[in-house]
Amino acid sequence: MAPIHKNPIQHLLHPNHSLTLFDSNTKYVCDGCKTLGIGKRFNCSECDFDLHEYCGTCPMNLSSFLHPYHSLKLVTRMPHGNRQLDRICNVCCDSIEGLFYRCKTCEFDVHPLCTLLPQTLRHVLHEEHPLRLLSSSESRTCVICKGACNAFSWRYRCALCDFDIHMECMLVQCKKQKTWLGISNEIHLLNKRNRMACLKDLHQMELKEEEKKK
Ligand SMILES: [Zn+2]
Ligand SMILES: [Zn+2]
Ligand SMILES: [Zn+2]
Ligand SMILES: [Zn+2]
Ligand SMILES: [Zn+2]
Ligand SMILES: [Zn+2]
Repeated sequence: MAPIHKNPIQHLLHPNHSLTLFDSNTKYVCDGCKTLGIGKRFNCSECDFDLHEYCGTCPMNLSSFLHPYHSLKLVTRMPHGNRQLDRICNVCCDSIEGLFYRCKTCEFDVHPLCTLLPQTLRHVLHEEHPLRLLSSSESRTCVICKGACNAFSWRYRCALCDFDIHMECMLVQCKKQKTWLGISNEIHLLNKRNRMACLKDLHQMELKEEEKKK
């Protein structure tokens, strides 16, 4: 692994050693949010300890469009706590352990990485308007998989045209044989976490495209 020349960080989850940012193509499990990662990570060279780049540097308090009314607080859930229920991420519906964001008032919990999902994305099947990431109690049909967008599930939506696509279906190759991101490596998409990271890449590409047009 080659270190990236950035200053090492200190993290509350690993107080005794500093962590250095590395880039490597191997997979790891983040010791912060306990989900898979690939590529960049903060690593302790003395221990087997890794953090996603974002989990290593995300703020203690976050305001996010995913939960507009309250700011979210970074909390750590100990693995052997005395608890009744598994916590679920309100955005991706996977279980939550370790490091996550929470609104205590609303019991809204979200993985740090899920807060990086882009608020708007464009899709080749609906070039007229950008789609906006929303959760809604209204039941709709996903344009891609024709499945139901269930109550309270997150979807990218154009409210003007009643056009909905599941968060995960945004990356499916559609009729026109083209997604916005030229993803050639299917294996890369097998993992849900990676697919969600791709949505972020997609948004970055859109921003670059828009820059070019100016
Ligand atoms: Zn993480
Ligand atoms: Zn260490
Ligand atoms: Zn999540
Ligand atoms: Zn709240
Ligand atoms: Zn779908
Ligand atoms: Zn529209």
